[in-house]
Amino acid sequence: MKAWVLHGINDLRLEDRPVPRLGGDEVLVKVEAAGICGSDIPRIFETGAHTLPVIPGHEFAGVVADAPEALSRLIGKRVCVFPLIPCMRCDSCLREQYETCSDYDYLGSRRDGAFAEYVAVPAQNLMELPEGLSFEAGAMLEPAAVALHALRRLGVREMESVAIFGAGPVGLLAAQWARVLGAKRVFLAGTKSAQAEKTRLLGFADFLDIREHDAAERIAALTGGAGADVCVEAVGDVRSVTDCIRAARAGGRVALIGNPRADMRIGKDVYQRILRKQLGIYGSWNSGFYRGGKNDWAETIAAAQNGDVRLEALITHSFPLADLARAADMMRSRREYFCKVMVCGNTIYPPRMH
Ligand SMILES: [Zn+2]
Ligand SMILES: [Zn+2]
Repeated sequence: MKAWVLHGINDLRLEDRPVPRLGGDEVLVKVEAAGICGSDIPRIFETGAHTLPVIPGHEFAGVVADAPEALSRLIGKRVCVFPLIPCMRCDSCLREQYETCSDYDYLGSRRDGAFAEYVAVPAQNLMELPEGLSFEAGAMLEPAAVALHALRRLGVREMESVAIFGAGPVGLLAAQWARVLGAKRVFLAGTKSAQAEKTRLLGFADFLDIREHDAAERIAALTGGAGADVCVEAVGDVRSVTDCIRAARAGGRVALIGNPRADMRIGKDVYQRILRKQLGIYGSWNSGFYRGGKNDWAETIAAAQNGDVRLEALITHSFPLADLARAADMMRSRREYFCKVMVCGNTIYPPRMH
């Protein structure tokens, strides 16, 4: 099969690889669509992955092309995939909080992921993709579940005001979730006119361009001086963290989901505001995929199906698999506006069948 293999920092190569061998609990997924995550860009160009060499790509959907005898009922199913493979033994796993597993494996950073024609996936990590959802939408379920997870951590309630800093895919997904959860007003702070346009397209009127004004001050002014009930940091830089703390009302909550780009040093005056305003600060990592009941993924699939959360509207670029390096380079250089960049139409060889 064709696969993009990351050998080291800035060393991504398109190679011929054997189709993955399956463990007893794994199925072979033929990748139909895979999103390039913001985190893939530093992974490819700046830091390398946790394990090298590795095939990156953790946001994807496809069709089960092969499976061991005991799982053969899954062959032919359209699926989306929770990319974190929990150890099932640590304290978090025993409490079904797989996202905080202390010894996890991860498709696309610790083991081979989806920037390839095929990927081996534990059957436990699959969810069936309903007929009404495209593979592209299926590949966006992961970031959408990540955004929902953060808002669930915050316990967003009806009639609250929600301010989101960062209008990339996760920020725009968080905004949509805030609306689903009944927020009375959603503010989005970003930097580009194209982000403003995308924000409006999704039905949000309050875009704040942080190049033009102090978003925290604007939010205070627009909420009668109080500030937002809830702030979400979806950039991963210190300005945005600072703005969240400044924009939150007394007794408000802040969720941090942006992956930090560098050390975070916040001023003493800003730190003081956490104390004085008695803010709740919530870290959020990955998404919840516990077995029984409503998990973040089941909820995300339902919301995508009934149109409450629009996934494909965030896709600005689609590349064939062979052009992944070009797509990643475009994202790194930021030479044009992009929101979600997708790799799709991967099939070069027919699937291996029993
Ligand atoms: Zn991601
Ligand atoms: Zn664990």
